[in-house]
Amino acid sequence: MIIAIDGHSASGKGTIAKRIAAWFGIPHMDTGRLYRAVGVAALKADTDFEDAQALARIAISLDLNDFDDKELRSAEAAQAASKVARVPEVRQALFELQRAFATQAKGAVLDGRDIGTVIAPDADAKLWVTASLKERARRRHKELEQEGRDISLAQVEEELAARDERDAARRDAPATKAEDAVLIDTTDLTIDAAVDQARAVIEAALATKQAASEQ
Ligand code: C5P
Repeated sequence: MIIAIDGHSASGKGTIAKRIAAWFGIPHMDTGRLYRAVGVAALKADTDFEDAQALARIAISLDLNDFDDKELRSAEAAQAASKVARVPEVRQALFELQRAFATQAKGAVLDGRDIGTVIAPDADAKLWVTASLKERARRRHKELEQEGRDISLAQVEEELAARDERDAARRDAPATKAEDAVLIDTTDLTIDAAVDQARAVIEAALATKQAASEQ
């Protein structure tokens, strides 16, 4: 069983993916961490963000143990991630890793931007999770404040908008809802309500698949 949960930053997709994985008792991969790690490594090595080969080399030899969560969650890591994510060689280098995770025997939940379209177009259930830009900025700003970071709400909103635009406009695997994904808008939902909605959609998709396979 493969469950693809794509969508925008701070839409709640990560929390939904984690809780759905726990509900079904299957492994979860936050694929944004891969791109964030490549971005952080590139910043540390002072790599030119236009140098596709150098970025691909970083992606190929990536070891997530080299990074701590706090540095991966920073606003700088997010911006760097969406820059390296434009590079087809980087996406290619990270493809096998994600595909192998998605197709493991136990099943898997992956969250990202292109899981339902590129990594696992064959997923058994697909969601696209979003919320209004204002609400996503409010959530991310609150998170950053709690971590003691000094950044204005307006700046967070600007950075999210820039990243949305870059992710949606890139030529290779643009962040977009798969045709067969179900849209969940969490703007006015609590996280518990969003998870309930996601679970209902996924269970319905799995039941439909099951019924089709029995015919
Ligand atoms: O989901 P998260 O905000 O951690 O992702 C960081 C960045 O990584 C995104 O803005 C996007 O550019 C990139 N990404 C991607 N494909 C994925 C996951 C993340 O391009 N599957």
